[in-house]
Amino acid sequence: MTKHVTHWIDGRAWEGAAERHGDIHDPATGAVTGTVDFASVKEVDDAVAAAAAAFPGWRAASVAKRTTVLFAFRELLNQHKDELAALIVSEHGKVHSDALGEVARGLEVVEFACGIGAILKGGFSESASTGVEVYSLHQPLGPVAIISPFNFPAMVPMWFFPIAIAAGNTVVLKPSEKDPSPALFLADLWRRAGLPDGVFNVVHGDKVAVDRLLEHPDVQAVSFVGSTPIARYVYENGTRYGKRVQALGGAKNHMVVLPDADLDLAADAAVSAGFGAAGERCMAISVLVAVDPIGDDLVARITERMAGLKVGPGCLPDSEMGPLVTGVHRDKVTSYLDAGVTAGAELVVDGRKHAIGGAEAGIDTANGFWLGPTLFDKVTSSMSVYTDEIFGPVLSVVRAASYDDALALVNSNPYGNGVAVFTNDGGAAAKFRDQVEVGMVGVNVPIPVPVAYHSFGGWKASLFGDTHAYGPHGVHFYTRTKAVTQRWLDPSHGGVNLGFPTNA
Ligand code: NAD
Repeated sequence: MTKHVTHWIDGRAWEGAAERHGDIHDPATGAVTGTVDFASVKEVDDAVAAAAAAFPGWRAASVAKRTTVLFAFRELLNQHKDELAALIVSEHGKVHSDALGEVARGLEVVEFACGIGAILKGGFSESASTGVEVYSLHQPLGPVAIISPFNFPAMVPMWFFPIAIAAGNTVVLKPSEKDPSPALFLADLWRRAGLPDGVFNVVHGDKVAVDRLLEHPDVQAVSFVGSTPIARYVYENGTRYGKRVQALGGAKNHMVVLPDADLDLAADAAVSAGFGAAGERCMAISVLVAVDPIGDDLVARITERMAGLKVGPGCLPDSEMGPLVTGVHRDKVTSYLDAGVTAGAELVVDGRKHAIGGAEAGIDTANGFWLGPTLFDKVTSSMSVYTDEIFGPVLSVVRAASYDDALALVNSNPYGNGVAVFTNDGGAAAKFRDQVEVGMVGVNVPIPVPVAYHSFGGWKASLFGDTHAYGPHGVHFYTRTKAVTQRWLDPSHGGVNLGFPTNA
């Protein structure tokens, strides 16, 4: 029995017959487990029309009413997090504990949005001029679109929609076609939480759906997360149609290890951040910069840890790392192993040789999308294993002669999503924090994803637009400010005066 995943429009599953479909796989076995409908322009238009029709009522609902629904959604999400995590595992492949972590980080944003009243309250100035009051309102935009990637099918949409909805907007989500079911699970939780029909809609599909959302005149804003070429495309086209756009792109995250660092803790962090979710995280560490003279020692400690990693189906409690998302992606990632060797890098650990679990539980992984953890040493900045975002379990070690060389390497990289420095020298860490040209910095923290009340975003080719995701930036993105200047007239205000109003 295979499943059939379709759109969610105006509070219910779509009942039409789609002209185009995509396959859904279980990445652990490679089996096709279902199909997903791909939206045509008509379905996207229907979803936007539902969002537009729901907007006046939702916008007019009091903050108290809106947050009551958000609190109910929060409770339901918490109650059903295991089911949601299992759904993520079945389509994405990541291990269950990691999927639960993804849900927890999304839940954080829901909780932040539950307190939207405190953030939307605006500012008030009494007696800005004599007898004149000035205040600011933060009003919702209308229907907004969210376009999300495969690697966090629940968390990335939740970076955006809790705040968009809490602020009074309505939403059309276009999730990745590779793992589409979590979005529908979330839509149903919204229904059960009491969200009015049409406030949250989901359309599945590909470029056809994305292009229509970008050009649709009723879509007011677009939040995108995905690879850099598509992020740039979405930013350029969305803004061309006059929309607000925040487009978060790809990454190549460095972890710089200074010679004074505790090498065991640094090796633990490099392995955890390099191979968690099989490297399919936009904040994964893909480049380790070892500052002389610790390179050989650090590589040895990392190699030792990699040998013990349990790679296997994400549904098994012992598995620490699962498969890649598709066969095509696995083949692309694997091609970098040969490319690195040809370019002269040292292949210290070849992930193709790593044992894959599953047989003990009767799971046949022979056709799954597997590649074990891989380590390259002596990588240089001109090699494709360094220049390209591989988005898989491939960690490249670059040797740097000094702190300055390490910093220059990070700052010359076109991406600027996340970076980490490992050191016990507070002065060196502070200098690095100030000088590095990256949006999210970890000091002895390998994956510095900010908490929900700060904002998430990279610099340079990792983000197009000027607004980061969630936190204060999220509220700013989903509202527009109106400044009101008012006075209550009395006879002393009479008289014609053509001069420009000044304050007194
Ligand atoms: P992707 O760019 O292939 O797809 C992202 C979204 O764009 C999907 O919904 C997809 O259907 C759509 N899309 C794909 N091709 C398109 C096209 N030609 N025209 C219009 N829309 C298109 O990304 P992915 O493979 O799903 O996700 C992995 C990428 O996302 C990595 O590059 C990763 O670094 C990035 N990512 C970035 C962040 C961040 O916060 N910066 C977070 C997560 C993932």
